[in-house]
Parts: sequence; C-alpha cells; structure tokens
Amino acid sequence: MSEKREVILEAKYITRKFPASHGRTLLANDDISLKMYKGETLGLVGESGCGKSTFMRFLVSLDKPSEGEILYRGTDITKLHGEKLRQSRQNVQMVFQDPALSFNPKMIIRDIVCEPLMNFKKIKKSEKDAVCRKLLEMVELPGDFADRYPHNMSGGQRQRVAIARALALEPEIVVLDEATSALDVSVQKTVIELITKLQREKNITFGFICHDIALVQQVAHQIAVMYLGNLVETLPGSELSSKAMHPYTKALMGAVFDIHMDFSKPIESIESEAPSPLDLPKGCPFQGRCEQCMDICKKEKPQMTEVEPGHQVACHLYGGKK
Ligand code: SF4
Ligand code: MG
Repeated sequence: MSEKREVILEAKYITRKFPASHGRTLLANDDISLKMYKGETLGLVGESGCGKSTFMRFLVSLDKPSEGEILYRGTDITKLHGEKLRQSRQNVQMVFQDPALSFNPKMIIRDIVCEPLMNFKKIKKSEKDAVCRKLLEMVELPGDFADRYPHNMSGGQRQRVAIARALALEPEIVVLDEATSALDVSVQKTVIELITKLQREKNITFGFICHDIALVQQVAHQIAVMYLGNLVETLPGSELSSKAMHPYTKALMGAVFDIHMDFSKPIESIESEAPSPLDLPKGCPFQGRCEQCMDICKKEKPQMTEVEPGHQVACHLYGGKK
C-alpha cells in the first residue's frame, strides 16, 4: 500500500430502493459510503443477494442510485447524461461472472476484444490485429487466440479475454463481479495472480466482488463486508484475520475455516437464514442470526463507527450509536 493514498472514487450515502409487490419497497443498498484508492483493490464481500452487485453497477453507470452520489475524481457520475456519461464510462469497466453469456458466440476474439475500441476510439480495422495481440499478451494468452471463437476456449481463458476487453480502453478502475467464482480453484488462482500483476504494472484500481471471503482476503487492500444491503464492516485486508470485529464478518470467516472452504454449502456457523430484504427487522439487520444480540440491537440500528483509522464497524458491541 502506498504511503499517500489517493482517493479516485467516493460513494456517498448510496441508497437504492426497488418497488416490490403489495406497495412494499426492497432496500437493496442502505446508506452506503465507501472510497476506492488509486492502485488498490477494494473487496466487497457478503452472501449472494446482499446488494454487492447492485452497488458496483452504480460505479459503471449501469444503474443509478435512488439517493446519494458517486464521485469519480470529484465529478458525480450519477448526474451525467448523454455524451458526458458515455465518455465517463470509459474510466470504469466491468467483468462479469460468466463471459460466455456476455460474448457474442458468433464473434471471434479479435472482434470481441476490440469492440470497445471500435465504439470509443474509432480505431482502424487494419490496427485491430496488433491491438488485440497486445491485449491478449497482457492477459497472458497467445496472440493467435485472436482468431478463435469463445466456445473454443476454456472458462479461464474466456475470463482472461473478458479482462483483456475490459482493459482495452485503459480504464482507471476495473470491477470484477464474481469474476472467478465459476472457475476451478487452480484456475481461480492464476486469474488472481494475473489481476495482481496487472495492478503492479499498470496501477489499476480493482473492485473485487465476491461471496468468498478467503479469496477476497488474497487480493483486497481494503475489505467491505455487506449484509442485507448494509455495510457492516470495512477494514484493511491485511487485518481481516486478526482484527475483524463484526459478528457477521467473524461468521463468514468461521465458515471459511470450519467447512474447509467448501462454498457450495450454506454458512454453517450462521444458524438461521437471512431475513427477506423486503421484511427487515427494526434495529440491526443481523439480529436474527447473531449469537450476541442484545436488547438495544432490536431497537436501534447500529451506525458505522470508526474503531481505528481505516476500520469501521456497525455493531452495538462497539458503540455504533447515532
Ligand atoms: Fe449482533 Fe447486536 Fe452487533 Fe447486530 S448490533 S451484530 S445484533 S451484537
Ligand atoms: Mg451478484
């Protein structure tokens, strides 16, 4: 981590509500504030459906929050429209879980990788081959993969192509949404190594969304833990094992160590199911699953409170009152 950290993106008080049946409201993101630092990786972790992807979609302008701001180098990108919005999209690119779904199966890799450049930079057709080879090289794939179709590649190779395409516009931030989750553990490891190498060489800022806290810990400088649309803890990745405080973070970690990293199973150390995000209890959203729940937890929602520089937690065990 560099001595002086530069904030390049700041989300402030992000709330996202979706209308639901019977006049109810689904609160997918509740008052989330986070910063991303140049050349660092922010890991966003939590069970599926906790609102991680909803949040990251705001960063790439695929959706707008109901309330709050996303400041990218000081400009609120949630307020941009038309050409300004289009241009700003170049700065933040996203890689999804299954590139097979986002690639046109009838296109060869050269056209897939160069598509953003054709759209934004109007590069000449004659330049495409050289540009594509360079990008494939960057993600450690042979240049002649440019002529292949996606179905002639493995899942790991396709994910590298998706990263190459995301890098084509030289974005400052790349968001990976469960980008390694569908891969075998050994392939996952090589993609993680690639991300680390790209960051070292190009000083890219990554957003790494993942339900697997052990994996997040391997790459993230900063970890943000989400539960039912709420941020419950943020802390440096290097301090996760020694300093995690929130009962939910600890439960996620307990699940890692207790069940030998088998993430296909539910979290065994958390007894009950999460409540529906449509039917949130008053007070702490984690109360129904928390072994340390106190009276106050059922009455007042704990607020994010700084316990140490760079470490915030929303839990009544550690203050957390308004
Ligand atoms: Fe558990 Fe209370 Fe902390 Fe919520 S606020 S995590 S219920 S101790
Ligand atoms: Mg998701």
